[in-house]
Amino acid sequence: MSLNTKPIRTRLAPSPTGLVHIGTVRTGLFNFLFARKYAGQFILRVEDTDRSRFVEGAMENMIEVMQKFGIFFDEGPRLDEHGKMYEVGDKGPYIQSDRLDIYQKYTQELLEKKLGYYCFCSSDRLEELRKEQMALKKPAMYDRLCRNLTDEEVKTKLAEFELEKKRPVVRQANPLEGETIVNDLVYGEIKYDNSTLDDQVLIKSDGFPTYHFAVVVDDHLMEITHVIRGEEWLPSTPKHILLYKAFGWEVPAFAHAPLILNPDKTKLSKRQGDTAAEEFFKKGYLPEALINFIAFLGWNPKTEQEIFSLAELIDQFDLSKINNSGAVLDVNKLDWMNSEYIRTKSDAELVELVKPYWQETGFDLSKFTHEYLENVMSLEKDRLRKLSEISDRTKYFFTETPQLVAEKLVWRKSTSVETKQNLRLLQDLFRTLSDDQMGTITKLEEAVKEFIVKHGFDNGSILWPLRYVMTGEEKSPSPFEVTATIFGGWGRENVMLRLENGISIL
Ligand code: GLU
Repeated sequence: MSLNTKPIRTRLAPSPTGLVHIGTVRTGLFNFLFARKYAGQFILRVEDTDRSRFVEGAMENMIEVMQKFGIFFDEGPRLDEHGKMYEVGDKGPYIQSDRLDIYQKYTQELLEKKLGYYCFCSSDRLEELRKEQMALKKPAMYDRLCRNLTDEEVKTKLAEFELEKKRPVVRQANPLEGETIVNDLVYGEIKYDNSTLDDQVLIKSDGFPTYHFAVVVDDHLMEITHVIRGEEWLPSTPKHILLYKAFGWEVPAFAHAPLILNPDKTKLSKRQGDTAAEEFFKKGYLPEALINFIAFLGWNPKTEQEIFSLAELIDQFDLSKINNSGAVLDVNKLDWMNSEYIRTKSDAELVELVKPYWQETGFDLSKFTHEYLENVMSLEKDRLRKLSEISDRTKYFFTETPQLVAEKLVWRKSTSVETKQNLRLLQDLFRTLSDDQMGTITKLEEAVKEFIVKHGFDNGSILWPLRYVMTGEEKSPSPFEVTATIFGGWGRENVMLRLENGISIL
């Protein structure tokens, strides 16, 4: 890939229409990695010209989410500590609705060069046209009726519109012959017949530019060298290139990243709940795991390595390693990656991270020492795939006694009578052990195993009911781990109580 001598400048150009889609984070990440790798600049530009889809607060939320991921912009809107927006950079304003006079100026230029034209067609006429084209199985395209109006006719129509307080739209006058070539860094060379390219609207009747017009003007004025975005914008690219040419501007490099797909290869659901970055945070995926995972949505280092820090991603990232086939979002893979990242954290760090989940479930943490919370954490750390699983996995550590079912309490090779007896013997044993023996996993294990040998018991007839009365779960860490931990947090009384709870249901 040839890199110009100009400094690399990339951008993320989201439309503030709702929650932050995971695809937007992917586009942002690729642009960020590429800019960082080549010591360039990464710009945030807010594309809010579609006023009907504008959502209050979406812009602020977008900035916060990207920050949470560790994706930082060199230029563009930022939030101060009071959540107020301000801008950094000398190529602003960076919010398109603040740039309307700029688009106006360039529209005039196109009109003068006859590379743009007013269109006075009513929406009824356009609808009719669309229906006709559909009936004939032709692609829906403007028929260029207004392109042939004389200057006189345009003047008259403009005056008429003004009287009616209406505004005509402005359309792009695309060449009727020849072809436009897109040289995409991912998809290669794609040729488009100019006759198939619609004379699309550049300025709408509300005076706002369309995305297609604003994106070209802004990418030029903001000196963007590489436009990296989702594959869904590839078919628009020839029209963008024609606009660059109409203005006589240098065309930036384009790299389109493949669509993100569900595991069944259908396009990733647009239902915001499922695909919003916020939703992934809520489920308890760590930002660094998500970044690692998202980097792999359409990019591959072409090595075996799968775990990448942000610094490693910056080092390894290259546009030439973006794939051109759909990127499957595999949640199992994300779970695996997240558990890898969870394991690298200390128990103390994890306690802070899972606290909100415990609190949300209603556990009263004030009753326990931080050490207890860390001990609980250390038992589940290796099994945890996402932080939101924590309450379900650790609930017996925060309730005085778990709910028990008699059939589950009896080991498969044992009986109810024997189980009851064994639980009593365990109570006797635990009365005699020192605090150190009770509260240290290895020492408790030693003492209980000695006791089993002394009485000639089967391991299962003791260890199964012990573990079950402590947890109420069919699966959990070992009986020694849970008992010693519970002893540390609740004291001997509670260990006895849990055993009694078992005895009482038999
Ligand atoms: N505003 C467009 C979007 O929401 C940006 C597309 C582009 O990057 O050119 O995705």
